[in-house]
Amino acid sequence: MSTDLLIRDERGFYCPPGDFYVDPWRPVERAIITHAHSDHARWGHRQYLTTPEGAGVLRVRMGPAAQIDTVAYGRSIERNGVRISLHPAGHVLGSAQVRIQHRGQVAVVSGDYKTEADATSTPFEPVRCHLFVSESTFALPIYRWKPQSAIFDDINRWWSANAARGLASVLLAYSLGKSQRILAGLDSSIGPIYVHGAVEPLNAAYRRSGIRLPRTEYVGETVKSAKSTGSRLAWAGSMIVAPPSAMGTPWMRRFQPLSAAFVSGWMTIRGTRRRQSLDKGFALSDHADWPGLLSAIAATGAERVWLTHGYSAVLARHLTHMGLDARSIDTQFRGEADVADADEPTATGQPEAEVAGAAEVEESGEDVAAS
Ligand SMILES: [Zn+2]
Ligand SMILES: [Zn+2]
Repeated sequence: MSTDLLIRDERGFYCPPGDFYVDPWRPVERAIITHAHSDHARWGHRQYLTTPEGAGVLRVRMGPAAQIDTVAYGRSIERNGVRISLHPAGHVLGSAQVRIQHRGQVAVVSGDYKTEADATSTPFEPVRCHLFVSESTFALPIYRWKPQSAIFDDINRWWSANAARGLASVLLAYSLGKSQRILAGLDSSIGPIYVHGAVEPLNAAYRRSGIRLPRTEYVGETVKSAKSTGSRLAWAGSMIVAPPSAMGTPWMRRFQPLSAAFVSGWMTIRGTRRRQSLDKGFALSDHADWPGLLSAIAATGAERVWLTHGYSAVLARHLTHMGLDARSIDTQFRGEADVADADEPTATGQPEAEVAGAAEVEESGEDVAAS
């Protein structure tokens, strides 16, 4: 296929005949956004195009001034003779693979994707193409997820056991997507559920899109109303969902005595949890595992595969052995956040923090803002 349909330049993945970018990391005129995670949806583009479901969370991230247009899953639009359509990626609410067709050639940019269907996003659909741009965050044979129902059972059992011992349970999880997926899997009969200030606006966007989540209370609000009425706060037995950057902050210590756990695909490796002094780890990911990546790539029928995120070189080697034209592409996309990364979104409408620490300060600062 002509290399002209899609190239990677210094701003990101560019379609020369259509004159647009997919998930560019520098400001551009026209950006098609696969999903609202901060490594894919950057601040400062003139025009954003995403799905209607994705627009709600993208709006929370980009603020009121951003120009966000939408196109429904499976509907196509034309630009300079290039046909563009978005297809479910099963990663977070509204996440899409971008299909680009020009002169009989088809390229698909997956963004991030997950092959197991869940209650909070439209299930992944394979799209036939000649060139597939795939993520490879967890592209090692050791990454094989347990069914999510088993993980939710583990989480609910851990919460019950903590409640019986008079402890609060703090679950650290990425605020967009992972947090809502966890909330949808929690057994709210065990106790009240509280969320961090980075999570609550995204919950609201999910609910507006018709996703059912259990009742949650925003911690900042609870603290404020307890102060005004002079009542004592009791966190024992409750569940608190917060972003990874809350780990070890004064914001988190207020829930003591507590038990803390991190929910991430990285929890497959036991050493990760020990290093971060967590009580528990749950290996639940919004990315495809090794078998998921292989089946998704095979289902596209693509003969050329470009790999981004994580273990791209490992997967490129594996696919090359299988006879595909596969290569690792250097991008500014990052994998699923680790506790240590503090790779969390910035506040609404603010430019993306270039320094990882900035976002962390923002969030632990919630304590001050709330009191
Ligand atoms: Zn993502
Ligand atoms: Zn990503």
